[in-house]
Amino acid sequence: MAATDERSQSSASGAHAAQDAPRRKTGRHRGEGQWAVGHFTPLNGNEQFKKDDDGLNVRTRIETIYSKAGFDSIDPSDLRGRMRWWGLYTQRKPGIDGGKTAVLAPEELDDEFFMLRVRIDGGRLTTAQLRVIGEISQEFARGTADITDRQNIQYHWIRIEDVPEIWRRLEAVGLSTTEACGDTPRVILGSPVAGIAEDEIVDGTPAVEEIHRRVVGNPAYSNLPRKFKTAISGSPLLDVAHEINDVAFVGVEHPELGPGFDLWVGGGLSTNPKLGVRLGAWVPLEDVPDVFEGVIGIFRDYGYRRLRNRARLKFLVADWGSEKFRRVLQDEYLKRQLADGPAPAQPPARWRDHVGVHRQRDGRFYVGFAPRVGRVDGATLTKIAELAEEHGSGRLRTTAEQKMLVLDVAEEQVPSLVSALEALDLRVSPSPFRRGTMACTGIEFCKLAIVETKGRGAALIDELERRLPAFDEPLTINLNGCPNACARIQVADIGLKGQLVLDDAGNQVEGYQVHLGGALGLEAGFGRKVRGLKVTADELPDYVERLLKRFQEQRTDGERFAA
Ligand code: SF4
Repeated sequence: MAATDERSQSSASGAHAAQDAPRRKTGRHRGEGQWAVGHFTPLNGNEQFKKDDDGLNVRTRIETIYSKAGFDSIDPSDLRGRMRWWGLYTQRKPGIDGGKTAVLAPEELDDEFFMLRVRIDGGRLTTAQLRVIGEISQEFARGTADITDRQNIQYHWIRIEDVPEIWRRLEAVGLSTTEACGDTPRVILGSPVAGIAEDEIVDGTPAVEEIHRRVVGNPAYSNLPRKFKTAISGSPLLDVAHEINDVAFVGVEHPELGPGFDLWVGGGLSTNPKLGVRLGAWVPLEDVPDVFEGVIGIFRDYGYRRLRNRARLKFLVADWGSEKFRRVLQDEYLKRQLADGPAPAQPPARWRDHVGVHRQRDGRFYVGFAPRVGRVDGATLTKIAELAEEHGSGRLRTTAEQKMLVLDVAEEQVPSLVSALEALDLRVSPSPFRRGTMACTGIEFCKLAIVETKGRGAALIDELERRLPAFDEPLTINLNGCPNACARIQVADIGLKGQLVLDDAGNQVEGYQVHLGGALGLEAGFGRKVRGLKVTADELPDYVERLLKRFQEQRTDGERFAA
């Protein structure tokens, strides 16, 4: 893979950054472990293992030792640390209930199987790539494959013995798991309709590709304070959840300079959720990679490394403010000023997932479809690749809403493709419940989980379709299996945070804390935690049904769902 050349080039730039760093300002932020103020002594275990050995280096040990000697040979600091740099997390041992999640030691929760995340930058896939993804799922992952809300595909049940062969097959078709997890530049979200949409402001694909070429697998950026999430979209639909990424480039039309991107930084959910802030800067397409490198450089050098729960870029942005952040970016990293620019316009629609049949600007069509809560399987993915090819397409895209699109379909082929997808239970005209419900991995495989999510999410969709067949309002229902934010509960109309609750008989059972009224796009903001409102998993369909019926009865004309 191309990373070899990148690594040797970037070692030099990484060393240069480290030598430069002590010459920068010193003073009051020293206690946050910032490299830029000369603080290189690790202040926690994560910083220590990253300093001891770069996470990227674990690949050699996986290939030469662990895959041959088996699970028990894996060094603990690789197992629970560096494996992530190659997209590997141990999965939860089956049968351990959510009440034990916070009680057991990590090794008691670890199964000997792994989750493996395939990064799909920009959500861009060829049919050949999807076929390989499907084959790997069937051969090595017991058929599992989930489309994530960051356009990736995740496997479960992976054995360490099979990882080198999986990499070989993925890399043979231009895919990888490099830095799919860990304190790294994660997958770059891109508009699923980049380069094809009739209403596109600017196609961000060249920037996605150049950033990937520069940073992924590059040791200059493989030891960040924490994960670093990127989103780039020139779609007026604002279709990549830009508000909750560490850095985002959002398509805008500058009145004098033309199409380009509005720069956002510091978004993120989980602990202390924050929406990203605009720096008021306009970036032309060709400058996006340089500006990206400036922002990720600030994060690497000035980001907080003392406490893991304060290590995301959003905390630095909150302390500095947008004005200082832009000044440091321009003066210390870019060495030039950025042009001022306008904010993005409000998106023209609430659904941003591109589901349905839509005309491309070249006259052909793309067809977006919805599995339930992103859950597919290897056989279905292989079938989707075959169907796409039978209908003249060689390209697909994943979306940031756990959906998928087939591109480049001739008009006369559309009805046949739609029927074939629907026959696979991949809905092209889904109910609002199927379309708007997302779920994280949950207790089935996640070691941090307290409750089940995927199965409950799918069952909730089926129940609501049965009970409320006429409901036609755009709506988002997001389920998390724990207090983290993998399924973005804070920005859903109905956010469900998994926890143990008491049922009527006083027994501790799986349930959810309810958050209402969150949104991205039109009126971005975090949902309100409904004080005291916790529903048991069994009560969930009744609760959501009551809520939606009340909304239907009481809404005024044009009012969107926001409880
Ligand atoms: Fe796991 Fe919690 Fe993330 Fe769900 S939200 S995938 S349970 S860490």
